[in-house]
Amino acid sequence: MSGLRLLNPGPVTLTPRVRAALAGPDLCHREPEFFDMQDRIRQRLLAVYATDAATWAPVLISGSGTSAVEAMIASLPGRHDKLLVIENGVYGERMTRMAAVHDIEHVAWHLAWGEAIDARQLAEMIRLHAPTHVAVVHHETTTGRLNDIAAIAAVCESHDISLLVDAVSSFGAESIAFTQAVAAVAATANKCLHGAPGAAFVIVRHDALASATTRALYLDLAGYAVKQAERGTPFTPGIPAFYALDAALAEHAEAGGWCARRSHYRDLADRVGDGLAGRGMAEIVPREAASCVLRSYRLPPGVSYARLHDHLKQAGFVIYAGQGALAEAIFRVSTMGDLSAADMAELLAAFDEIIAP
Ligand SMILES: *Cc1c(COP(=O)(O)O)cnc(C)c1O
Repeated sequence: MSGLRLLNPGPVTLTPRVRAALAGPDLCHREPEFFDMQDRIRQRLLAVYATDAATWAPVLISGSGTSAVEAMIASLPGRHDKLLVIENGVYGERMTRMAAVHDIEHVAWHLAWGEAIDARQLAEMIRLHAPTHVAVVHHETTTGRLNDIAAIAAVCESHDISLLVDAVSSFGAESIAFTQAVAAVAATANKCLHGAPGAAFVIVRHDALASATTRALYLDLAGYAVKQAERGTPFTPGIPAFYALDAALAEHAEAGGWCARRSHYRDLADRVGDGLAGRGMAEIVPREAASCVLRSYRLPPGVSYARLHDHLKQAGFVIYAGQGALAEAIFRVSTMGDLSAADMAELLAAFDEIIAP
């Protein structure tokens, strides 16, 4: 099937320019042409949030978003450190599993999926467990809730704690303040940046890298950082994904950067949200707490997810199921990728065919 518009939270519908970039020339990753591209991508990644190269290192990893998050979690806490993981969805819970797999002393603060993270309660958890690091997901794609990382970073700062952020589904489209407590932000090419799957990255403080720990061979963040800083690479990178990310970052900057992308996503998400509300499908997360990237909706009465999905796919759209216990109750619509207001109007028309009385 071709020409499907992807409303799943990554990979996204590519622009023609990014798709064309994927078919770039054959390239050896030990030649200067590759390192020129790698340097350019690393500079462009820092430019997205105007982070300063004197303080921050952009580290590229060939893998999915999870590889970047796992490299961050596995590398930054020291041997005698303790990690507090905030969970309010699947991706927070995944970071707890990473900490367990890598034998990092940790404690999980478990909240219900979609529940807000209360800053005062976080301070209480910190007093109780005395962690050196806190890990949190910025946009919890499980539900569409945008966690307030600025407030969380402020609590961490006042307790002299390092914050590790999974920004896989927000980097490039939501506000991220790289304040003092933030030690690292992990993200991926194929969500809000509109690249292809296979390239991920961590924006990490030089001083956090200097005290990093090696717990894995492939996911050794400092190992990548050292090599990349001197125009090298430890392993064979996903070169087509790098081509696509390079083009996607150029497009992102030309279109006005993360603020412009947030406005565009918000416009599309609000069109879908208003349209579905008018058809009896309510948003799960209050709009003021939801991301611009993805929203969750209650399934219409009497319509199963499978039927809705298959009908919309026939009409040219791929929506996304809820995870775990939410699978029977909700569906998700992401507005990342090369999508327009006209696409959203077509989507709503396709809903009318299935929920018409
Ligand atoms: C998509 C996502 C991931 C995982 O990304 P993969 O590319 O599937 O490995 C991690 N965290 C968040 C918040 C995500 O949305």
